[in-house]
Amino acid sequence: MSAFTNAMRQLELAATIAPLDPATLERLRHPQRIVDVQFPVKMDNGSTKFFHGYRVQWNNDRGPYKGGLRFHAQVEMDEVKALAFWMTIKCAVVGIPFGGGKGGVTVNPKELSKGELERLMRAFTRSIADVIGPDKDIPAPDVNTNPPLMDILADEYGKIIGHAEPAVVTGKSIAHGGSEGRGTATGQGGYYVFDVYREKSGFDPESGSIVVQGFGNAGQVIAKLFHHHGYRVIAVSDSQGGIHDERGLDIPALIKHKESTGRVSGFFGAREINQEELLTLPCGVLVPSALENQLTGEIAPRVQAQMILELANGPTTPEADAYFAKHGTIVIPDVLANAGGVATSFLEWQQNKTGEHWSEKEVFARMEPLIREAAKAVIHTAEKYGATQREAAFVLAIERIAEVARS
Ligand code: NAD
Repeated sequence: MSAFTNAMRQLELAATIAPLDPATLERLRHPQRIVDVQFPVKMDNGSTKFFHGYRVQWNNDRGPYKGGLRFHAQVEMDEVKALAFWMTIKCAVVGIPFGGGKGGVTVNPKELSKGELERLMRAFTRSIADVIGPDKDIPAPDVNTNPPLMDILADEYGKIIGHAEPAVVTGKSIAHGGSEGRGTATGQGGYYVFDVYREKSGFDPESGSIVVQGFGNAGQVIAKLFHHHGYRVIAVSDSQGGIHDERGLDIPALIKHKESTGRVSGFFGAREINQEELLTLPCGVLVPSALENQLTGEIAPRVQAQMILELANGPTTPEADAYFAKHGTIVIPDVLANAGGVATSFLEWQQNKTGEHWSEKEVFARMEPLIREAAKAVIHTAEKYGATQREAAFVLAIERIAEVARS
């Protein structure tokens, strides 16, 4: 089941929950534009190589398209379309004035030198310069792209239009107009969302243990926050395996261990477990923070978490969703749970537009109410329609898009 098929099933399901505008639904079933480009890059050995890049612009009814750029050898257009669609829903759920997009280049960046990668980023920027812009489409980092590459995009775009325009892209380095706090925003936002649900559901921190799948940017930050707030993080995993300690893992020490060895396995005092064991451990909150399609219909009946906080995009299939809904497991959907990242990108864009630079404290003081309000609005919509949290998030987003949709 592709991520795109899942995304479209989620849309159709939302349409059965509430009386949504048929024209808006039809509009959201297709991208507004797919830009497909081929461009030359001068390689270090003097040869010229052609690369293939793309940008999916799903919907801009609420504002400029917004979404990451990934550099990956196997570009799956279906996956990119799903991610562009989810960005549209996510920006509407969190109430920021952006639409949704996603894009990238078919390349294994590890095979390129630093200079080749820079020339590739510049050439790609030139080939999509017509369709991006601070009020048109604002890219950001995604898989295998990072702040230095976003700085290059902004620099090349500035050369094309004849003046600096940092608001054309977010996720830049601080020196080039990036925002304080962007690096930890997704995990931080996920924690604020969890906190709203905790208050609402009476989730007991004493009894609630935490399991985190994926120990990268998002997974490490949320594990650290749970640990900091006194929760027992009993298991984590990365692509090479998982570890479990029912007494609770020392997360700051585990981050150091991961930095020095490149993996979570081998952490002192913890039991080695596999991915499946990790996902099916009894726990308060399971936090998928790695890949799509991890919680399937097959594994769902063995999942023992009370609550699932989706920091990853698309970790739960519709079959698993249906199982969890029937058995009372609360699934806090990705379009809400990981929206702290894009909310902070919006704040970076605002800072660039006004020429200001806010402290991390100021950034989070603005991000927190956006996220908490979004979580409360989703809960309210779920109660109103007797829907799951995901259905409610989609209904809320589609209602908001319908309010401003142009005909
Ligand atoms: P990352 O590359 O920093 O980390 C991913 C982690 O997942 C790594 O630790 C990797 O080893 C692990 N992993 C990979 N395959 C695995 C497997 N089969 N089982 C267990 N772990 C595995 O990526 P990230 O930025 O933390 O993103 C993680 C997820 O969160 C993605 O779905 C991403 O789309 C989503 N997300 C991230 C952000 C952000 O700002 N970083 C924002 C929104 C959504």
